[in-house]
Amino acid sequence: MRPRALSRIGIVGAGQLGRMMALAAYPLGIRSTFLDRSADAPGGRVAPILVGDLEDPKRLAALAATSDVITFDWENIAAKALAPLGNSALIRPSAAALSVSQDRLLEKALFARLKIPVAPHAAVDSQRGLERAIRRLGSPGVLKTRRLGYDGKGQIVIRSPRQAGDAWLQLGGPGLIYERFQRFSREISIVGARSAAGRTVFYPLCANTHVDGVLRCTVAPYRNDRLERAARTCLAKVMSHLNYCGVLTIEFFVVDGRLIANEMAPRVHNSGHWTIEGCVTSQFENHVRAICNLPLGSTRALGFAAMINFLGNMPPRDPLLRVDGLAYHDYDKSPRPGRKLGHCTIIAARATDRSRGMADALKWIEWT
Ligand code: AMP
Repeated sequence: MRPRALSRIGIVGAGQLGRMMALAAYPLGIRSTFLDRSADAPGGRVAPILVGDLEDPKRLAALAATSDVITFDWENIAAKALAPLGNSALIRPSAAALSVSQDRLLEKALFARLKIPVAPHAAVDSQRGLERAIRRLGSPGVLKTRRLGYDGKGQIVIRSPRQAGDAWLQLGGPGLIYERFQRFSREISIVGARSAAGRTVFYPLCANTHVDGVLRCTVAPYRNDRLERAARTCLAKVMSHLNYCGVLTIEFFVVDGRLIANEMAPRVHNSGHWTIEGCVTSQFENHVRAICNLPLGSTRALGFAAMINFLGNMPPRDPLLRVDGLAYHDYDKSPRPGRKLGHCTIIAARATDRSRGMADALKWIEWT
């Protein structure tokens, strides 16, 4: 028997990812409610926000009481905060999937167990430990916090063993990981969705450009059949192992033509924003479909796409809207250096037109 279609989602975190999920849910007749610390969060413009701490048991229980299924804009919610909700709403993806993604060391252990290559790495809990890791793995390398690092926050590139003391002072404390620096030719990601019944769909590969750890641009589809097959295999293994439900993303480095998994995100992902205009069904809609027991939609690309993030300030809207094939997204956030405030996507029928559109758009975009 087909499971009952669900019609009320509770989204933990009301950032831009949650907002784009709620926007995708609307035409399906699915209503969203957010939980967020701030009544002004981007999601608040499109659905009600319950205001409170994301791990507050009372607020989470209130969210579960108005929802058939709970999902996440922000994945760093402790499994123990979610445990009491299991009786009132489904939790998709599961707390177990979130837990693995919250810790870079557990994530890498899972990849390795599934025979997905990762960069050589070591757990670091003291300055001595860091010095040992640098001796064993060499430099350059990247020292990262195991938890709560995102967009390049909580990580330092160590170019020589002499930097160990300073790096330790900066990131300090136990709970770090040191990884060998990867001399990649490209960074790519794969986004896919899995239904509760185990059906999977995959989006075309994305080629990503990061600066200082923050995504600036994605170009897709990135056509490389061999890498795409390899990336899909990795994503399918992780999804199946976790009995995953919803959208999952893995980011990879391409090193000597091989994939090295960097990290995964148990949610819709910035490198998949182009799918809103660029695919038959967006990553946001497929996430909603998956968690609400609806059939998954086609991930076929509708053209050549480029997504450019707006970081630190919003570019002028009018000239960008004049760029052929451009869609403009403003998340309604206040400017702050490096903050993701919006993005634009350019869709073209030919790769050359996409490049031209991208160049036209970039004339107006300044990352601050
Ligand atoms: P992360 O927070 O792990 O996604 O890292 C953000 C970005 O930092 C990546 O997209 C890379 O551009 C860079 N980076 C992270 N780890 C490494 C590594 N081991 N080697 C080279 N670059 C890295």
